[in-house]
Amino acid sequence: MVDLITSLSAQDVARNLASVRTSLAQAGVDPDGLEILAAVKYLPAELLPALADGGITLAGENRGQDLVVKAQTPAGRRLHWDFIGTLQSRKVRAILPYVRYIHSVATDSALAALGRYGGPDTSILVEVNVAGDPGKTGVAPSHLAEFIKSSPVKVAGLMTMPPLTDDPERNRIYFRRLRELAADHGLSELSMGTSQDFVVAAQEGATIIRLGSVLFAPTGS
Ligand SMILES: *Cc1c(COP(=O)(O)O)cnc(C)c1O
Repeated sequence: MVDLITSLSAQDVARNLASVRTSLAQAGVDPDGLEILAAVKYLPAELLPALADGGITLAGENRGQDLVVKAQTPAGRRLHWDFIGTLQSRKVRAILPYVRYIHSVATDSALAALGRYGGPDTSILVEVNVAGDPGKTGVAPSHLAEFIKSSPVKVAGLMTMPPLTDDPERNRIYFRRLRELAADHGLSELSMGTSQDFVVAAQEGATIIRLGSVLFAPTGS
């Protein structure tokens, strides 16, 4: 369990963001060619100004209630918001007014709630369990076509949460597989890669990388 972040300056965020962009460029990826989403589940609302002032424009939250609260703060209003957690169908209605994408749709009940409360502007990413990890959420690749077809709202792309690993190269095959699945289904958005493996994910075509710990690390004075 990771602890709540207790301090963060705009300078920390700006420096961390610069080093993320440098790592991408050094790996042959244009840092302006993808979106950097700040995953804020461990960041209290009071620290959101540091994010906005440090150059972040897109935030992602895992819990519906926290998203609604954070998105309505003054700093939260300066950011765009995506929902990146496990979507509970009873939270769909509350979060829809604040979000651009819901990244993590993987159940029929979530689709049913989206059908009820979603509109023409509602866009989702389908979470895919590419690694076939039994403990993980996500639609199996073999059920993806059917799942996309049954969505009552626009499917903009795919998202995945690969296994935790010390060696990011081990996740390259999962990112590549997600890109192939997106291409097979004519989808353009690919939400993949976290602090542990964003460089590899970006090399494999991520359009959105979701970063927490690397953005919030203290950088000294
Ligand atoms: C927390 C979280 C991230 C960011 O994880 P870090 O390892 O801190 O970069 C990315 N995606 C999702 C879905 C998350 O919950």
